[in-house]
Amino acid sequence: MQARNIHKRFGANMVLHGVDLDVGKGEVVVIMGPSGSGKTTLLRSLNFLEQPDSGMVRIGGIQVNITAHTPYTKRQKKDIVQIRRKSAMVFQSFNLFPHMTAIANVIEGLISVQGMPAKAAREKGLALLDRVGLAQKANDYPAHLSGGQKQRVAIARGLAMDPEVILFDEPTSALDPELRDGVLDVMRGLAQDGMTMLVVTHEVRFAKNAANRVIFMEQGAVQADCAADSFFSGQANARISQFLGQVQ
Ligand code: ATP
Repeated sequence: MQARNIHKRFGANMVLHGVDLDVGKGEVVVIMGPSGSGKTTLLRSLNFLEQPDSGMVRIGGIQVNITAHTPYTKRQKKDIVQIRRKSAMVFQSFNLFPHMTAIANVIEGLISVQGMPAKAAREKGLALLDRVGLAQKANDYPAHLSGGQKQRVAIARGLAMDPEVILFDEPTSALDPELRDGVLDVMRGLAQDGMTMLVVTHEVRFAKNAANRVIFMEQGAVQADCAADSFFSGQANARISQFLGQVQ
């Protein structure tokens, strides 16, 4: 996955100042940075949940160039649909359909977008729920699941479409501390299985254990992009050391 020179402003507030980003196949890249530095906006710009003002995004061989904040062309719209299929997004707030069971949430895209027959979709969905440790909750509704379980269902839903990359936006921030580990364990498992992942998180332990690289964002720009080891080793710059002092 590549992004080049992504700019985004909200009114007078310039939130992304020309961000470049590369995530190689099988790489796990963590984005850290203070509140308001543009991490969520960057993630949302990568699959066009936010419209960047300018820049380029390429995911799975599909490239979209934005040169101005004008309505998308037909061609861009088509390519953006492809990019969304190739990039699953896991949100802080899970975003499950409340009126659907866990399995129905997982396979909804397989049936409605991919047109997979219901039986095959159900088999795939059950295997994915098993992968996130929730096979026994397949027929439960989100209201009967803990926050951690809901997030694991959301991850299974993301995996269902066989994405090239999963974009995680603070996946554990809404969870009580005791529920975070189950979600982080699932994410670590995905990382070990070679899934390409871009993860906005404050979870230092996850970043230390699972990330290949850490990107530090501040004021809408990438201030550092380095191997996880050197990011946490104290060799990073003084500003990063200060930031880590606040989140650890
Ligand atoms: P946090 O760690 O608190 O989630 P963040 O680094 O993810 O922060 P963003 O959520 O990307 O930061 O926000 C960056 C800036 O953009 C902030 O100043 C925020 O107020 C502003 N912003 C984000 N979304 C919108 C929006 N839809 N409309 C207007 N301003 C927005």
